[in-house]
Amino acid sequence: MTAVRSISVFGATGSVGASTLDLIARSPDSYRVLALTANSDPVGLARCAIEHRAQLAVIADEKHYAALRDALNGTGIEAAAGAGALIDAARLGADWTMAAIVGCAGLEPTLAALESGGTVALANKESLVSAGQLMMEAARLSGATLLPVDSEHNAIFQCLAGSKIADVRRIILTASGGPFRERSLAAMAAVTPEEAVRHPNWSMGAKISIDSATMMNKGLELIEAGHLFPVGLNRIEITVHPQSVIHSMVEYRDRSTIAQLGSPDMRLPIAHALAWPERMDSPCEPLDFTTVGRLDFEAPDEERFPALRLARQAGEAGGAFPAVLNAANEVAVAAFLDRRIGFLDISAIVERVLSGYSGNKPAKIAEVLDADRHAREAAQRLTESVKA
Ligand code: NDP
Repeated sequence: MTAVRSISVFGATGSVGASTLDLIARSPDSYRVLALTANSDPVGLARCAIEHRAQLAVIADEKHYAALRDALNGTGIEAAAGAGALIDAARLGADWTMAAIVGCAGLEPTLAALESGGTVALANKESLVSAGQLMMEAARLSGATLLPVDSEHNAIFQCLAGSKIADVRRIILTASGGPFRERSLAAMAAVTPEEAVRHPNWSMGAKISIDSATMMNKGLELIEAGHLFPVGLNRIEITVHPQSVIHSMVEYRDRSTIAQLGSPDMRLPIAHALAWPERMDSPCEPLDFTTVGRLDFEAPDEERFPALRLARQAGEAGGAFPAVLNAANEVAVAAFLDRRIGFLDISAIVERVLSGYSGNKPAKIAEVLDADRHAREAAQRLTESVKA
């Protein structure tokens, strides 16, 4: 009999959080839920905490603490609030932690979970983009296991199973191309948030959906892959594959290429990370190759999707450039969702913030957060000048 594992889910009310809890609910005897967290949805968080019999529920935004406490009254589930409580929750020593907060807000709790030494399933790509070296170093020092949940990185991890990174010739990161794959640059100027969040293959939170539409998501994934699989960014290629059936590939020095395939359902990589190094049953649809019919591939277009070029440049520059790229993008995406700027302004703002940054090499997390804060302020000013 396998031992019951303690699980914490950061970002429990989000898209990845819900998929994680869905899998856990299918084997209630295998897991004990330690902490669940959210930011601004105390009612949703309390509902999850009660349903999954969590020990602790943490709401990041303190103004929702009273609502969370009231919703949990009489349940025996502890309620807490604030950034510090989030970090404390990450240090509870869960056997397995899902890092699924969106944005750089997930950085400190994810780092705290890595420092605690358990298994961390990482969906929160922005934290690795912003502070990849420090996070990988924290995992190395504590002996934590970092498992990639982003479907592409999970695919690469599966394709690498048992092989040496030195034998890898190329990593091929596949991209769906997003909802505007065939849209001209001129036509993209007028797209609305509603159109941009409508991803053709995946159902995801708003921020990552916009990132997929600008293809910044693939740029962030390039930097993420560079930290997880240290082959050098020049050996990581992006290929547009509109069907999203191949989730990524690894080409070895003997020219053999291994691909991981599956239906576009995040429960697949999450189930892999949950069961690793074993396998578990999942509710995902099996692939029906006769329905899939064909697999297409095309080169990415950096003219129409400048975010790809910006991310590669920031990744190659290293230091705090990726943190600046990510922070400017978060601010610009929020402004677009709020209808304060246009779709093409997102990458234009990121480019201007990057070009105004002189660069340093952050040796500690406070320096990453400092670069993040400055980039946010610069991006905020730019969103206001676009609006004016
Ligand atoms: P959602 O927007 O659906 O959920 C985000 C979660 O983070 C919610 O629980 C939200 O709480 C919480 N949150 C938001 N802001 C803060 C904050 N400031 N402090 C603490 N918690 C916060 O996002 P997704 O689930 O789509 O994405 C989560 C992460 O996973 C992202 O980094 C994304 O890039 C990555 N990812 C997502 C995929 C997907 O299919 N969705 C695929 C691959 C990676 P509340 O509900 O209260 O706002």
